[in-house]
Amino acid sequence: MNRTYEQRLKRLARAQREGRVDVMAIVPGANLRYLTGLAMDTSERITLALFPFDAPPLLLLPELEAPRAEANLETEASLYTYSDEEGPDAAFQRVARDLDLKGKTIGVEHLRMRLLELRQLEQYAPGCQFVDGEPLLSRLRIIKDDEEIKAMRRASEVNEETFRQVMAQIRPGVTELVLAETWQKAALDADGDDLPETPIVASGPNGASPHSTTSSRRIEPGDLVVIDGFLRSQGYYSDVTRTYAVGEIDEELELIYSIVQEANSAAREIVRPGIKAQEVDAAARQVIEKAGYGEYFIHRTGHGLGLEIHEPPYIVQGNDLTLRPGMTFTVEPGIYLPGRGGVRIEDNVLVTEDGCETLTTLPRELERL
Ligand code: ZN
Ligand code: ZN
Repeated sequence: MNRTYEQRLKRLARAQREGRVDVMAIVPGANLRYLTGLAMDTSERITLALFPFDAPPLLLLPELEAPRAEANLETEASLYTYSDEEGPDAAFQRVARDLDLKGKTIGVEHLRMRLLELRQLEQYAPGCQFVDGEPLLSRLRIIKDDEEIKAMRRASEVNEETFRQVMAQIRPGVTELVLAETWQKAALDADGDDLPETPIVASGPNGASPHSTTSSRRIEPGDLVVIDGFLRSQGYYSDVTRTYAVGEIDEELELIYSIVQEANSAAREIVRPGIKAQEVDAAARQVIEKAGYGEYFIHRTGHGLGLEIHEPPYIVQGNDLTLRPGMTFTVEPGIYLPGRGGVRIEDNVLVTEDGCETLTTLPRELERL
């Protein structure tokens, strides 16, 4: 068994004992991948991994997924397969019997488990108590080890090379969709090891919506163009945003750019072990509020980054979680002026022993194209 995964399972078992969770039930997704190395998607065919705190995991899955599981599992696990014809009921029954599930406390993923899996568990594990396993799982994942950080650095390099290629293609007349496609091709050319997702390309007034849908709008002189590109290396994300100016832009757009740039620096500068997540948010927000644009900064300052593009720690007012070395998250303040455009500058940071390292090295000065 791979040592990294052996350690992860030990830490899970310890956390389950402390939290009095007899069995953790995990569906396909980032937690399953983190604990077993298995990258799978949910589908109408149920896959469910059960982790008792005192024995190796049990994996219930469709027969056709067994070869993939055997090839990619980094941990030992007993497989309980079912065919399309028989369906998962009998496999559930066997799992429930072998784990003696009746009356146990089962940790489930409130953010991911569907009623489909929950109803099966309720049926075959009568008298069980279900508790939210997410906080326990996120405590395991929130500190990245050296291997995870290495993957994130690689993702960052690929992402930055992609941005450099795409920047050269931004000009009046090109549509947002064409730029998005250029971005995906450039990401593949930069040797990404995963098929890149579609970036957000938001030009002109579309930039006023932080999660604008990339459209067939053509870039015009005087536009700000926001590009939010995210991709993975070995499962780990880089998530970067840069905002570019096309030719001469309006004075106020220029002003909000410099405010966001300052907010981004202010937030990254205070990141160090011992401060609270919400203090990073406050550092960025104060700059924007002081400049009179507080009401146009309509989202939190950042989010954790790792196997998922959004995961703890959330850099948001009210989160008094203390930052520790090995945490990775985004710093992405923005100002969005309805009908006119928006600016966001997003970097990825790693909390180090004595401060913080910004994984992103792309320039933050306004580039005029
Ligand atoms: Zn982003
Ligand atoms: Zn982000």
